[in-house]
Amino acid sequence: MEPTISTITPFTASNVKKCICGSCPVQTNSQCVKEKQATVKEALQANPLNTADIPGDYCATGVATCKDIDTKQICICGSCPVFTDYQLATHQPMGYYCRDGLAT
Ligand code: SF4
Ligand code: SF4
Repeated sequence: MEPTISTITPFTASNVKKCICGSCPVQTNSQCVKEKQATVKEALQANPLNTADIPGDYCATGVATCKDIDTKQICICGSCPVFTDYQLATHQPMGYYCRDGLAT
């Protein structure tokens, strides 16, 4: 089954590159995220992109496949250019897409 992709924020290499999830404290200590980050350049060459290979852009792709993230830490989506570009403050949820699913 194809993963659900948000119709609000397109799942594109351009938006993945703008995404700041990589600097988010929620992901800092995730070994799973570290492993995906090590191969993310290659993953960005794929067409279509594979959601499971990209440890970020969750507003477009939904809940993180990495389960060792720490969602007690503070989400920084509010400082992200994608959040601003697509006016995600006017959609739900308003952050923690890795935990709560994609922007709708
Ligand atoms: S709004 Fe959050 S999940 Fe979406 S691209 Fe920005 S940092 Fe990543
Ligand atoms: S969606 Fe928000 S909480 Fe989750 S990793 Fe990205 S910035 Fe952090």
